Parts: sequence; structure tokens; C-alpha cells
Amino acid sequence: MTAATLPGLEPVPTPAAAPRPGSRAARMALPRSVDVLKQIAIEYGVCVRPLAMRRTDLDTGLTEVIDLPCGATREDKCPPCAKKNRRLRQAQIREGWHRDDEPLPGPQPATEAQKSLILFRAHLEFSRDEASRACQWDQVEDLDEAIREVEEAIAAEGLRGRVGPPHTSTDDDQGDDDTGRRRKRSTKRRQDAPDLPRRKVEARTVGRTYTAPDGSTYRPSMWLTLTLDSYGPVRPDGTPVNPNRYDYRRAAWDAVHFPRLLDRFWQNLRRCEGWNVQYAGCVEPQRRLAPHAHFAIRGTIARDTLRTVAAATYHQVWWPPVDVQRYTADRPPVWDEQASAWVDPDTHHPLTTWTEALDAIDDDPDAEPVHVVRFGTQVDARGVLPGTEDAERTIRYVTKYITKHTGDCHKATTDRQRTHLDRLWRALRVTPCTERCANWLLYGIQPRKANAKLKPGRCKGKVHQRDTLGIGGRRILISRDWSGKTLADHKHDVRAWVRALLGVTTDSTTANGTTESSTAGSPGQLVDDQGATAERVRHAWELARPDDADVGPLSFRLMRSISERARWRTELLAAKDRAEQGPADLSATQHIAPQHDGEEDQVGRGPYDRAGSGPDQHE
Ligand SMILES: [Zn+2]
Ligand SMILES: [Zn+2]
Repeated sequence: MTAATLPGLEPVPTPAAAPRPGSRAARMALPRSVDVLKQIAIEYGVCVRPLAMRRTDLDTGLTEVIDLPCGATREDKCPPCAKKNRRLRQAQIREGWHRDDEPLPGPQPATEAQKSLILFRAHLEFSRDEASRACQWDQVEDLDEAIREVEEAIAAEGLRGRVGPPHTSTDDDQGDDDTGRRRKRSTKRRQDAPDLPRRKVEARTVGRTYTAPDGSTYRPSMWLTLTLDSYGPVRPDGTPVNPNRYDYRRAAWDAVHFPRLLDRFWQNLRRCEGWNVQYAGCVEPQRRLAPHAHFAIRGTIARDTLRTVAAATYHQVWWPPVDVQRYTADRPPVWDEQASAWVDPDTHHPLTTWTEALDAIDDDPDAEPVHVVRFGTQVDARGVLPGTEDAERTIRYVTKYITKHTGDCHKATTDRQRTHLDRLWRALRVTPCTERCANWLLYGIQPRKANAKLKPGRCKGKVHQRDTLGIGGRRILISRDWSGKTLADHKHDVRAWVRALLGVTTDSTTANGTTESSTAGSPGQLVDDQGATAERVRHAWELARPDDADVGPLSFRLMRSISERARWRTELLAAKDRAEQGPADLSATQHIAPQHDGEEDQVGRGPYDRAGSGPDQHE
């Protein structure tokens, strides 16, 4: 295609040789219509990898194929679903950050019926103990049966959790392996870590309210970034100034154990502050490829306290030493079937077992942890006021990379960056990830529960993969009492808001809405339980295969969804206009509104929430 020059416009400088019309190059320059279809689907927030589900009406026997969004959280799989997931995370952060009431006010008091069941269970426990002492085993059996029934009744009466662990026969609870006994480790505070004040932790999860001189009150919250230590000076592109002196080994171990360090930090902070501090945040790679973490914290904490706690927090790894790598992936130890152990390839001597290795540490009074993780000195913290543009910007910043793979956050584009990534990866490949990691064999140690299937030096653990940069676990970290809601609850809120706006109030819709979280993602036969309680099952669900006759080509399905979405978006915008002019009874949820338009195009159609969402007004 040649660039047309419109009258009145500057002529576009044409590329040196425009392809000859009709040539292969000219044909290849035309955009492919399927690609454009996908692009439009993405623009309209329609899932590009929909899952076809067949719904059978159990009364009429009619079947219908319904496309459900794939629910991917990564942009490279499905941009609309990933964006939608990000918006839910943003809503979750927003809702928990500045709240001034306890999200979970605690359970209701037990009813008389519940109390009497627990009392009955207590009597049975007493009788069982007596029978067991008197060796009346047939009675014990009967009592166990009775206990089982009462425990079922307790659950049916609406009590949470078990009243006690199940009874087991007394002789088989002896641990045979290294899991059986608990090891005592030195928990002595290291000399170089400052002592932290300790306070008894209150149940409170909300911060303090401040009163301004004019009488108005405000409750600021915090924003915190925690980084790891330096491994050597780096350039602006993240690569080391002196690669040979950059400590890749420490970088690798730190990355692998970073989640434990963060856990420690929150424990220490809560103890030090004396209340149940709540956070929501995420772990991301920095440009130098080391992980760091951003957190929204509810309430305010003195910056000095945050710094002190970060400086005092460490995590010790009490694993066998890894100073000498005795084997390589090319010359590994071998599995000896007869000895049922990994042995040296030459001497056929069994390698040290995990238990032996740990015993050696325990017996050595001068043993040092194989690794200690600490934070770096850079601790950024600032206050953020609710409802400000600053707060919104911060939430966007926290969720900036959550739709991306760790390895895609900072793409290596220069040779220097690629070499840096490579060196880090080489260190990560030989770093043990867990007690059961096959990499232990390289150091002449059989990991915990060693077996013939291990591949020495080629552990499949996530942290050894090049594009994880050693960040193997969850990247979104949200404390238990943040918003008092799960992601599924937030999704439900969004649906409720859209439903209210559109004035959809049919019963079937409500029922459909409640089932999506319980069934989402489970393939095969699904039963739609329409409202969970005593209502009759009306539909059966099953996963349809892409080549089933009633499913049809993906392009048809995408086109239908796009058209539906476009019409629905118009309707929603009109409804919004009406709502803005009319009584503002939606004001409570108004602030989350702009992020969520386009969520609910399938009102009343299935137990699932269909494809992504509308225009992303913040991107
Ligand atoms: Zn999708
Ligand atoms: Zn591993």
C-alpha cells in the first residue's frame, strides 16, 4: 500500500522503494483481517481466547454454547482478561487502603443450639477417653461413629472449622523421617541487627484518625517500597558497572528467599507497632533484575519505625553449606536402585542424606546459616490521603506490571543487558529452591525425600527458569484483613453496580451472579446451582471442545461478542448519563465506576462473567 498524500497535508516522505503494486511485498503489507478482528476484540475488551461452555436446560433439553472469558492474568495470553484482572486488583487495593472500620467485625455469637452441640461433643470426648483407658475398643469404635455424626451436625449448624483434630489410632502417628521431629535452631538475634521494641498486638487493623486545627478529621495511609541490598554498583540500564564484581550468587539467593523476608517484615512491624497492620502490594523486578516490593499500608506508621523495622528484619536460611559444587549437570551423581540412594558416579558412595546434613548443622555449635537475606538501605515511604489523585496514581503504579510476566517487565534489549540476565540466570540455575530441590545433588547432598526421578542440576522449580528472575512465588501480596473480601467478592460488587445502573433486577440474574466463583475454571461437567439454597438445578454445564459442531470457528464467536459488546457499551453509557442527571443513589460506588464499565455484558446469561471490559480510561 502506498501512502496517499491528501491535499493540504505535507507529503509524507515515502520509503526509498515502495513495493510494486501487485507484488508479494505489496500483498504482505496489507493488514490481515483476522489480526484486525483480534485487535478490535482487544479494543472492545472481548476475551480473545474464550472458553466455550455448553449449557443444557434440564427442563427442555435445549443446549446453548456460551463463551466464557479465559480469565488470564497475563497480557501476553489475553489482554482484555488481564486488564480486567488488574482493575479488580485496583479496586481491592482502593477499598482496603483507607477504610476506617474493621473489614471483618468478627463472628456472631454462637446460638444455643450450637453451644449444646459442642457440649455434647465434649461429653463424647470424655467417654471415648474413658473407654480407651479401659481398653474397651468396641466402645471406642461406637463413640468414634457418634463423634463423626455430631461433627457433621456441628458443621450443618453453621459453625466454622473443626472442633478438634480427628482421632487416629495411637501407633501410626510416629514420624519416621526428618519431618517427624522439630529441629531447634538458633533464633538468637544476630549482633548486627538492632533490637526492636515489642508490643502486644491488638486486633485493630485500621489506622489513627487525625484532627486538623479547623476540626476536620483525616486518616492518611501509607505507601512503602522495600528493596534488597546492593550487589555492586549498576548503570542506569540496570547492568553492573563491573560484572565480575557483581555478587550474582547473593542476588540469586536473595531473590529466592525474598518472600520469606517480606513475611518477616510484616510480623516484625506488627509486633513493633502493636496493631494488626494491613497491606496490599506486589513484588516486581527492578531494572537491575532484583525483586523489590511496593505496598499500600492502611493507616500511618512513622517513617523511622518503617526504616528501623526494615533494618532489623532478616531471614536466615539454615540449609547445608553450598560452598563447593562437587558435580555438574553433565557429570551428575547417579541413582543406585539397590541402595535406594543417590551415589557418587565413580566411588558409588551414597551422598550425604538431607537428615545427616541437617544433623551436622545442629551438632556444630559454630554453625552459621548458609544465607541471610536482608533489605537494602533504600526504604521509601510516604503518606497518601484518601480520595486524592495521588492515591489513584499510586494504585496504578502498584498494579503497573501485574499483567506482565516477570521477565517481560524490563526487556533486555542490549547485549550488556542480555549478558547481565544470563549471568543472573546461571546463578539461579544452581541455587537450591527448596529442601526438595534436585540441585542439592550438585553439592553432594541428597535433598529431602530424594528419589530416582530427580534430575541433578535441572530442577523444574519456577525460580530456575530464566524469565522468572528468581521470583517464583505469588507476586500479589494482600493481607488477610485488607478489604475483608476476596477477588471474587470484588468481582461481584462490580456486577452489582452495573446491574443497578442498568436497572436489571430479575431473580435469575441474582442467582447467576452468585455461582460464578464456585464454578469458574473447573472443566468438565458443571452444575449450575442457581442460588445455592433450596432452588432447583435448572442447567447442566460442560466444557465444549473447539472442534464440536455447535461451537463454530473462533472468528464467528469473536465477531458476535464484539457486536454485543459494542451495543452494550452504548446502553451503559446512556444509563450512566441518566444516572448522573437523576438521583445519585449510586454515589457510594461512584468512585469505582469509571474503572468498571463494560464488565457486565452477559447479565442473566450464565454463571460466568463474560469477557473483559470496556474502555480503560486510565491507560
Ligand atoms: Zn481472555
Ligand atoms: Zn529447584
